[in-house]
Amino acid sequence: MNVQLNENFARIKPSYLFSDVAKRVREYSAAHPEKKILRLGIGDVTLPLAPTVIRAMHKATDEMADAATFRGYAPEYGYDFLREAVARHYASFGVTVSPDDVFISDGAKSDLGNFVDLFGDVPVLVPDPVYPVYVDSNLMAGRNVEFVEGNEKNGFLPTPAGLSDTPRLIYLCSPNNPTGAVYSAAGLAEWVKFALRTGSLILFDSAYEAFVSDGSPKSIFAVKGAEKCAVEFCSLSKTAGFTGTRCGWTVVPATLGDGKLAPKPMWERRQATKFNGVPYVVQRAAEAALSDEGMAECMANIAYYKENAALIAALLEKKGIPFTGGLSSPYLWLKCPGGMGSWEFFDYLLSKAQVVGTPGAGFGGAGEGYFRLTAFGSREVTREAVQRLDKLL
Ligand code: PLP
Repeated sequence: MNVQLNENFARIKPSYLFSDVAKRVREYSAAHPEKKILRLGIGDVTLPLAPTVIRAMHKATDEMADAATFRGYAPEYGYDFLREAVARHYASFGVTVSPDDVFISDGAKSDLGNFVDLFGDVPVLVPDPVYPVYVDSNLMAGRNVEFVEGNEKNGFLPTPAGLSDTPRLIYLCSPNNPTGAVYSAAGLAEWVKFALRTGSLILFDSAYEAFVSDGSPKSIFAVKGAEKCAVEFCSLSKTAGFTGTRCGWTVVPATLGDGKLAPKPMWERRQATKFNGVPYVVQRAAEAALSDEGMAECMANIAYYKENAALIAALLEKKGIPFTGGLSSPYLWLKCPGGMGSWEFFDYLLSKAQVVGTPGAGFGGAGEGYFRLTAFGSREVTREAVQRLDKLL
């Protein structure tokens, strides 16, 4: 083959994190078939979809079976009923978003990856550690990425202090994956102020907003001025267990930029060209998840995960192990005891307690020496893992 390939792909580090984890677990299991392994490493939900969501999916499926109610291509930006439901969801926690600025997607990952189509050769600022998609999608597009470090000193909530005035694309993720750290209103306001002053654009990932219960903002648009400097990516994956059902949205305010080359008309053009919408049945399911009844059921599932998180948090507190997250997040991010490296601690937990977590180094250089545990397991597995860790640590 003689076609020129995108050489930027060679700049991306292969992601071995979850395959390495799986490989080490497989090898351990093969050598010790009698040992029961407990997984606290998963970033996927485990509880089924809420009954209200399932009912809506059945009803929408029946509509698709009848010529009178059958639907073909969905609108590229989403059905109005869902764009309006998303706007009402924001209103439920006091944030005003216009349905016209809401773009329905098949999840936050696609939009986070696709949104970089809109930008030229602009510097990109990414927190470290963080969800790896931000870095890799910009490297694929040929951009350079700078990092702003989350560490124990700043509570894994990097600030713009000390950054030059260069306009940038700035990624923020709150509640953060993997650290579980959540920005306060004042913390986000600092970033909004910086973005407005420097002409930067914040790309805010609120995929875990449903876990926020400490009064911290669930949306960047809770901060005044954000409508002039931010785009928000959200998803029903963690809110409503849609990891396999696939629905999310991106809010691109009409107030961003001016003229035709502004993010909103550009995103409309991009989506109309490269995207043909989310399935009708899924959009009805999403609408149901965002209804009062649906949301109450989803929040009961979130409460279940948060009780798991509380069990793990209580153990870490008892052991005096420093950690972030677990309160407004399904993730607990702990410092590996005894100065162990991330992978060293992984092997230690696997071999001594048969508990599997995720090495922090997989989320960026600043994650070395840290470890992620998740609350997405069952209560039984979480309880047993906590008992084993109590004995070991
Ligand atoms: N953003 C963050 C921070 C995530 O952790 C994840 C998934 O784990 C996503 C986005 C992707 O979500 P979705 O399932 O909507 O693509």
